[in-house]
Amino acid sequence: MKVLVLNPPTANRKYTREGRCQSEADTWLVNFPPSTLACIAGQVRVKHETKLIDCIGSNISFDSCIRMVQDFKPEYTVINTSTPTIENDISIAEEIKKTTGSKIIIYGEHATANHENVLKNDAIDYCIRGEPETPIMHILEGNVKNPGIAFNGFDGGIWQEPNLDYLDIPAYDLMPPYYYPLSGNQWMFVRSGRGCPFNCIYCIVPLMSGRKTRYHSPEYMIKQFEFLKKLNIKHWMLWDELATFDKQRMLNLCNLIKSGDFKDCIWFCTNRVDVFDEDLAKSMSEAGCRMMAFGLESGSNEVLKHIGKRITTDKSEEAIRLCKKYGIRTVAHFILGLPGSNKESDMETLDFAKRINPDFVQFYIATPFPGSQLYTLAKENNWLTTEDWAKVEQGDVTISYPDYSAGQIHEMRRKAYKEFYFRPRTIINGLTAISPKAWLKFPTYAKTFLNWMKR
Ligand code: SF4
Repeated sequence: MKVLVLNPPTANRKYTREGRCQSEADTWLVNFPPSTLACIAGQVRVKHETKLIDCIGSNISFDSCIRMVQDFKPEYTVINTSTPTIENDISIAEEIKKTTGSKIIIYGEHATANHENVLKNDAIDYCIRGEPETPIMHILEGNVKNPGIAFNGFDGGIWQEPNLDYLDIPAYDLMPPYYYPLSGNQWMFVRSGRGCPFNCIYCIVPLMSGRKTRYHSPEYMIKQFEFLKKLNIKHWMLWDELATFDKQRMLNLCNLIKSGDFKDCIWFCTNRVDVFDEDLAKSMSEAGCRMMAFGLESGSNEVLKHIGKRITTDKSEEAIRLCKKYGIRTVAHFILGLPGSNKESDMETLDFAKRINPDFVQFYIATPFPGSQLYTLAKENNWLTTEDWAKVEQGDVTISYPDYSAGQIHEMRRKAYKEFYFRPRTIINGLTAISPKAWLKFPTYAKTFLNWMKR
């Protein structure tokens, strides 16, 4: 069987269609590597002729994409989708179906949460609900009435892989190159675990990957790193919900990295402040961890309670301090305009960010992605300013409260960026994080970031 795994092109802005980060590429200066494509292709190619086309990473236009699909003549096309790109993605699916007759399978958070609406479109044969690898293999084998698969007249519910180590190593070799902006070296996103037992109201992970955490064994992770190193990819981002939820597993993984042939490799991860401590900071730093991103969300304990985050500002401060002590750079993600927030509490967030002073921050705006509790709340309370999915991404304001308007939230975001980044210590710190190789790209990055801040 001929199977195409496709990250479709977008018309204007470039988007990251990866899990909890459904946002414009400019949010982080570069587009994130969509490693779900590699995860799917890694399974499919064991039994089928497989082609991976990443139109975002390879700068492929709509017309070129359609020509490439026509040349390959897939029997099945698996399409990555997200909320802000869903209309765009469906129109590409329609064109592929019309010109090649390929069956269309779509996956992603939007397909999971909003499958009934998406399936109203005749071009879509199957919606994957939840984690895509096993349901896609079932479809290719003709066993379509299985968990994780929905089509007109059938909904198998949401699928989460029970044992991640059963999955074949992702086909990273089929991906186009992606570059880490601070060093200019090639990097790749690597899933090391899935699922999260917490239930933050704005998050779609509990729906997509469930509340039970599942991890690859340290040995499986080493196999992935060895494969990446063979491909000369020596920067890895552990794209987990909670990298250190299982402390002993992370310590074991660090020991294996330290004893392996990875001295010239560095890595980064995303994490939660209350599952991180000094043992981990020390061991992870020794194993090559050079940056950690935390969802701190707010500098107000009231707001943190309101959104079900179950962390405190003290914990956040401590995590940033530990990273600094062990030479791990930090990224703090904050969300403005969360339910329960107002101008004053978002000012508290800005002041908190400046005080704890991570190396980099992002000030997102609360985004009611379908499938999140926030979406339901926003619908019930008439907080949504639009249901145009193209606007539902982390950079646009799509929520407005009676006492905190969309305009005020937007203004607060601009102020937050300006006040955080235009300080001598932040500028100097940011510049020292950039390696000489990446300096050539600096003017482009600076322009991209300034444009993003002004939006
Ligand atoms: S801790 Fe909260 S934001 Fe992070 S993955 Fe879990 S539910 Fe989502």
